Amino acid sequence: MDFKDYIRVIPDFPQAGISFKDITTLLKNGEAYRKSIEELKVMVSDLKIDVIAGPEARGFVVGAPLAYALGVGFAPIRKSGKLPYETIEVGYDLEYGKDRLAMHTDAIEKGQNVLIADDLLATGGTIATSINLIRQLGGNVVGAAFMIELADLNGRSKLDGIDVFTLMKYE
Ligand code: 5GP
Repeated sequence: MDFKDYIRVIPDFPQAGISFKDITTLLKNGEAYRKSIEELKVMVSDLKIDVIAGPEARGFVVGAPLAYALGVGFAPIRKSGKLPYETIEVGYDLEYGKDRLAMHTDAIEKGQNVLIADDLLATGGTIATSINLIRQLGGNVVGAAFMIELADLNGRSKLDGIDVFTLMKYE
């Protein structure tokens, strides 16, 4: 299956010059969504994973079904102010804008192997921040899985030698 057939590319969203890769057109197709998660599952099958961590909101859409398929836990990474228990937070720059991400202090046990999942790797800022949070909690980041990689933005260079798994690449 060519997953790109299910991605809708929207020029100038959310601002001029950004070519937004809309995954909702893949998600609404049951076969394409299931196959995309199954293919990511195969890609990470050699890793020893205890927990998947995914940043809101689209990281949940990829990370949670992947965690279910692998039979491992899921730890949400959320915007500041959303998580109800004690948190740690890290600020970061987005491809467009700034934000802060947070995790519960007990989301990951020390020494657990963590796979990060999100829909798309752009500059790598979101995932670098996620890695920072997970490492502060004592987790061992064993890889990062995405549906889409925007290769020109070279997000991989921010990922510190961590194995990156992607279904689709756009230049
Ligand atoms: P980065 O932090 O790597 O620059 O940006 C990646 C984050 O921004 C991801 O969490 C992703 O959901 C969001 N993002 C940035 N550009 C796009 C895009 O073109 N399509 C989608 N679906 N998400 C994007």
